[in-house]
Amino acid sequence: MIAAQLARVAFYAARVNHVTPRDLEPEATVEAELPGVTAEAGLPAVLRAELIALRRDLHMHPELGNREFRTTAAIKARLEQAALAPRVLATGIGLVCDIDPARLIDDGAAERGEGDARSAYGDGYPGDGAGARRDDGRPFLVLRADIDALPIPDTKTVAYRSTVPDRAHACGHDVHTTVVLGAGLVLAELAREGRLPHPVRLIFQPAEEVLPGGAADIIEDGVLDGVGRIIAVHCDPRVDVGRLGLRVGPITSACDRVEIALDGAGGHTARPHLTTDMVTPPPRSPPRCPRCSAAAWTPAPGWR
Ligand SMILES: [Zn+2]
Repeated sequence: MIAAQLARVAFYAARVNHVTPRDLEPEATVEAELPGVTAEAGLPAVLRAELIALRRDLHMHPELGNREFRTTAAIKARLEQAALAPRVLATGIGLVCDIDPARLIDDGAAERGEGDARSAYGDGYPGDGAGARRDDGRPFLVLRADIDALPIPDTKTVAYRSTVPDRAHACGHDVHTTVVLGAGLVLAELAREGRLPHPVRLIFQPAEEVLPGGAADIIEDGVLDGVGRIIAVHCDPRVDVGRLGLRVGPITSACDRVEIALDGAGGHTARPHLTTDMVTPPPRSPPRCPRCSAAAWTPAPGWR
């Protein structure tokens, strides 16, 4: 369902050059132009079933940041099956895949006059930097997912629970991966029919949960060259199932690594009054960090 919603939002964004929270309301024109995708029914049944199976497979095989080899291979295989040309990053983990109407358009459809691969809204997004344009002047709209899991045990009792001890997709990155892949497959279909008005790039970023993060690898690899806008996807338990929320700007927390150095006189536990207590302070410090940031952060009006 969310893959369908994302495809609709991306298609809308590609058409109007921007997207705001208001645009998330059902938009009849967009729905009519997405083949087999509706707000009520979501994706075509076959694709929907396949994506559910893929997401559960990823959930059963979580991989930590910078080790997402199996995940990368699974995404690559599915994109290639759809006759797309994904490129694995130079690091061998994570990948990028362009859905470019200029390259994917079905010549037969074009000759028959079925659709128009050119944007009806002009070339390029207003306000995008000149350096962020392709040769033909149209920057990519990006759909971005992160693909790594967390070092957390999966204690659920479902058939698709993690098969790897102390590893789980506890942050939903298996969902993000599947949603962006599913939306990409729908948009590729549109591109082939000459009905995608803008080039779209899928980014599957590794190592979101570790430092340094995989975003640096993405940038280093030149993946953001020619990019105009990015729609990043993340689960949020505050949003009802089946709905998609939108926020312009940063969202979800940043993570950081903290090292605590303790210094003091050593000694024997028989004489604690002569030693420095190294055990008590460390557990006390981390819980204080969220309290500090909460005190320093004021939610915007309407923010839950
Ligand atoms: Zn996450």
